Amino acid sequence: MGHRVTLIPGDGIGPEVTAAARRVADATGVSIDWEVAEAGEVAIKSHGTPLPDSVLDSIRKNRVALKGPITTPIGGGFRSVNVALRQQLDLYASVRPARAIAGEGTRFPETDLVVVREATEGLYSGVEHWVDRDRTAAETVNVITRKASDRIVRFAFELARREHRRHVTAVHKANIMKTTGALFQTAFREMAPKYPEIASDERLIDNMCMQLVKKPSEYDVLVTTNLFGDILSDLCAGLAGGLGVAPGALFGDNIAAFEPVHGSAPKYAGQDRADPVAEILCVELLMRHLGEKEAAERVFRAVWETIAEKKVVTYDLALPGYTQRPVPPSSCSAMAKEIARKVPEVDLEAPLPRPSAPGGAPGDPQLEA
Ligand code: NAD
Repeated sequence: MGHRVTLIPGDGIGPEVTAAARRVADATGVSIDWEVAEAGEVAIKSHGTPLPDSVLDSIRKNRVALKGPITTPIGGGFRSVNVALRQQLDLYASVRPARAIAGEGTRFPETDLVVVREATEGLYSGVEHWVDRDRTAAETVNVITRKASDRIVRFAFELARREHRRHVTAVHKANIMKTTGALFQTAFREMAPKYPEIASDERLIDNMCMQLVKKPSEYDVLVTTNLFGDILSDLCAGLAGGLGVAPGALFGDNIAAFEPVHGSAPKYAGQDRADPVAEILCVELLMRHLGEKEAAERVFRAVWETIAEKKVVTYDLALPGYTQRPVPPSSCSAMAKEIARKVPEVDLEAPLPRPSAPGGAPGDPQLEA
């Protein structure tokens, strides 16, 4: 019997990148029975709510999901479906690896970091209100609990131990946030001695950002609260080559959901232009979670080879700034087809060439396109 996985295409570029990911997953030959569940703008039209109960029921039943990005209206409108999913399913650990892949799209080809972000509380708790009737002042409450801090810090050390990583850094702002910051800091300080083989240290969030853009190779696993983790994981995605290639995973005690770091990129929706790699690398993570190690390795190598070859890559990987040798951009579906074609053919024993630096990328090509 195959694996049963909930598939949430999402909205914006979500349906395109999840179709690409599904194509690559199917190319591995691993039997997956996809249970498609609509959430986001599409679900408002079909179910009258952006997060129908049937989505939550499907994930609870299957205990594993592959998810596309979902739009959150800015300012007003409905609350974030992404945040609601994490809170309602208690998906407390958001794990975002940032590895430079094959190409030249980073000044830091040695980047190999993991951001572990607490995903259920902090400034995303939804506790906020206007202070006065005229709406000239507002408050958003930063909810930090000892229970959630302990479990995310433990998760980060356990991940470091499992993946043979050497170092965990706690990122906070305990100098200014003397209650919430200090609570998280204390949880970290009391957990660290239980993992004597793993080095630990702390950074204030502002200093952490500066250190990362100067010398990311000095860091390994970063563990932090919700908002800082959201910001840091985009920063680390940029270090490793851009949002188009940054996958992510969400873990609770019994449920895992895989989603890219990027959002729904509405300006590219329906154009078959978006980079499918982040969602495809979510398939790699999904396969590892399902115990399908060879399939995971095939997906990773097929992505690596496709980016290294630079014959069939989307606009963000084809532009000057990502590559020294600009090439005509391919579509999302063409790149997915190329990666899927490679999946059964890759040599699992061949050494992977190290990524090389471009000698100075002018900026994030995704934002300049
Ligand atoms: P975004 O990640 O969608 O886009 C940021 C920039 O990166 C844009 O220039 C975009 O075009 C580009 N980009 C993103 N993904 C890309 C891809 N796969 N290929 C090529 N270029 C890509 O972030 P945003 O614009 O801040 O947010 C858009 C919407 O997505 C918002 O409604 C936001 O709330 C939502 N969002 C959802 C998630 C999620 O579902 N987990 C995460 C982040 C943002």
